[in-house]
Amino acid sequence: MTDKEILQLQITACELRELILRALFNARSGHPGGSLSIVEALTYLYKYEIRIDDPHSPDRDRLVLSKGHAVPAQYAVLAMKGMIPISLLDTLRKIDSPLQGHPKLGSVPGIEMSTGSLGQGISVACGMALGAKINHQKLRVYAVLGDGELQEGQVWEAIHFASHYSLNNLCLLVDWNNLQIDGYVDDVMNLRKMDDRFRANGFRTIVIDGHDFIELQAAFSMFHQTKDRPTAVIMKTIKGKGVSYMEDAVEWHGKAPNEEEYKQAILELDRQIQTLRRMDQEGTDVGGTETGGMALGMMDLSDPKWDSMVLDSFARNSLAQRAAAEREMQQRAEESVREMQEHAARQRMMKLNKDTAGKGESI
Ligand SMILES: [Mg+2]
Repeated sequence: MTDKEILQLQITACELRELILRALFNARSGHPGGSLSIVEALTYLYKYEIRIDDPHSPDRDRLVLSKGHAVPAQYAVLAMKGMIPISLLDTLRKIDSPLQGHPKLGSVPGIEMSTGSLGQGISVACGMALGAKINHQKLRVYAVLGDGELQEGQVWEAIHFASHYSLNNLCLLVDWNNLQIDGYVDDVMNLRKMDDRFRANGFRTIVIDGHDFIELQAAFSMFHQTKDRPTAVIMKTIKGKGVSYMEDAVEWHGKAPNEEEYKQAILELDRQIQTLRRMDQEGTDVGGTETGGMALGMMDLSDPKWDSMVLDSFARNSLAQRAAAEREMQQRAEESVREMQEHAARQRMMKLNKDTAGKGESI
C-alpha cells in the first residue's frame, strides 16, 4: 500500500465517522462507541477485501456483523460504496426505514444476517462457511465480533465447530476495545489471553492494531495464505475512536450525541481530514511502500512467526525489510533466468555457425 493510498483510507475513515455520527444524531439514539471502533476494519474490508460487486451473486463473499449494534458503521460503508443511497442514512432507526438499529436480513444489499442478540452471528457465519465448502464455492465469510460478545458461551461452540471443520474460508474479526455496555471487559468478565484461547482452539490467530491499515492488509494476506485452519484477527481498537470525548468512555456505548456534542465531534473530524489532506499534498511518509501491496503478496505469510509480530514497530520494520528482500530476490531470479536464456541462445547460435561453416550458407 502506498503512502497516498493509506492517507486516502484514513480520510475515508474520518468521513465515515462523520456519516455515522450524523445518522445517530438524527436518530437521537444508537451506538457510537462500537461503531467508531470498527471503521478502519470495515473501510479496508469493503475497499480491498470483500468480493461483493454483485450483492446478489450466490458466490459473493459474506460479512456477518455479529456485534449487530455497530451496524451504523456498516450502513455508512455500504452508502459510501454506493450500495445504498447516502440520504438513507438520515432514516436510521425511523419507523419503516430499512436501516434499523440492528441489522435485518434482506433489508438492504450487504446485510447478510439479522443480528444483535450477541453470540449468534458467528454461528451463522460458520454455517455459511461450511455450506460454501460443501457446495465447492470459493467465497469467503467474515464475521465481526465484539470482545464483550466473546463472553457468550455460544461463541465458543461456534469456534469449536469452525476448527473441527477446518473452515479456512472463515475470518473472524474481534473488536478488542476492552469496553462493553457495563464497563471494562476485564472487570465485567475477564477474557484473559484471548489470543491464546483462539490458538488453543485451532485458529490462525493474528493480533493487530485495528486502526492501522498496513496491519489490516498484512492480516488479510495471512488469512489468504492459511489453508488448513480458520483465522481470527484480534484487532486492538479504541472504543469511540476519532472523537476525543468518546474515546475509551463507556457512557458512549449506547447514546447519541446532543447538538453541541455533535458539532464538536464534526469539528474534530473535519480538522483530522484537513491534516490528512495536507500530509497527502506534502507527500508525508506514513509507512507505505512505493510498490503498494505487491510486496506482501510475495511473502510466505503462512509462517506462524508473523502472527504476533505485527503489532510493534520492530516487527513492522522487519516486515518491510523482509518484503524488500523478497522483491530483490525475485528480481535476481528473473535476471538469472534471463541470463540463462541469453546464454542458451548464444550457444545455439555458435553451434549453428559451426554446423554451417564452409557450406556456403549465411545466417
Ligand atoms: Mg467492546
